[in-house]
Amino acid sequence: MGRVYNFSAGPAQLPVSVLERAQEELLSYQEKGMSVMEMSHRSSDFKKIIERTEELIRELMEIPETYRVLFIQGGASLQFSMVPLNLLKDGGHAYYVNTGSWSKKALSEAKKIGEAKILASSDDQNFTYIPELDLQQINEQTDYVHITTNNTIEGTRFTKFPNTGHVPLVADASSNILSEQWDVSKFGLIYAGAQKNLGISGLTIVIIREDLIGHVKADIPTMLNYETYTKNNSLYNTPPTFAIYITMLLMEWLKEQGGVAAIEERNKEKANLLYKAIEDSKLFYSNVKREDRSLMNIPFMTDSDELNKLFVKEAEQEGLHQLKGHRSVGGMRASIYNAMPIEGVKALVDFMNEFERKHI
Ligand code: PLP
Repeated sequence: MGRVYNFSAGPAQLPVSVLERAQEELLSYQEKGMSVMEMSHRSSDFKKIIERTEELIRELMEIPETYRVLFIQGGASLQFSMVPLNLLKDGGHAYYVNTGSWSKKALSEAKKIGEAKILASSDDQNFTYIPELDLQQINEQTDYVHITTNNTIEGTRFTKFPNTGHVPLVADASSNILSEQWDVSKFGLIYAGAQKNLGISGLTIVIIREDLIGHVKADIPTMLNYETYTKNNSLYNTPPTFAIYITMLLMEWLKEQGGVAAIEERNKEKANLLYKAIEDSKLFYSNVKREDRSLMNIPFMTDSDELNKLFVKEAEQEGLHQLKGHRSVGGMRASIYNAMPIEGVKALVDFMNEFERKHI
């Protein structure tokens, strides 16, 4: 069966070459006579895989020496708890920028652990924009400021990051890590579930500045302490070995593409193509503020629920899958992560034009 264009918000489409390589090596990795899935996480072969994966992430994101890269399970959702468990101090508080459903979840988990407050919110307009931050509110008691760099459901992104001074900026970058060039030194901690631009589900990457490790306020569970991962090179227990291997393959693919600078150009080209189609349309529209638009997740809709449903159904018949919008936003959403080729976006735009001709 041929492959379709998969516009899912995650798990996301992977490059065919990555899947083919995993397939070639599935039964016998580098002629070792066993699959990566069957390999001991303590073996020298797996050690090379995890080290190479870290090296590639470091190289692609230009991560400074003073940061550690951790491989953790539990998804980005577990980081909603691990971040406050590790960074909130007695008498301190955290500030959250509330830009959508995922920010809200991060905030509500933090509230279970300590004091977490809203620094700014775009709740008043259904999260269709990124709010201005009043950084004057940050004070001595602020342990960190949390942002969601890209709002997967609402389709907004931070195009510039706040300067929080000596207070660490913590970022949930699950849906746009590696999509644009960033200066990692502006952050104290970046986390991302792997199943969009980093690989497959089961793995979460945490990039943390060294000085933030080892100051937990209480005796927290071993597996929830970042120090457990740094002390054991993410091998305290069995890590998600196959997911790490896929991340290695995907990072090699990204490097072959010319790295983050090159993929950023392509991502902008892809997103512009789709945004232009929406702007030029008399049928489709988007509610997202122009300056804050995401490069990865693009919600759009028509005024009719019936037409929206018909669009999703007919698109699928044309090999354009998973275009249904999130239930909280409605309409359609096209997720166009790093691995979505421009041909996929062009096919979507052609289909939109044809659909419009029929229904306007
Ligand atoms: N944060 C963001 C921005 C997301 O897009 C998602 C999932 O789509 C999550 C967190 C939750 O990630 P996970 O399913 O890995 O827990």
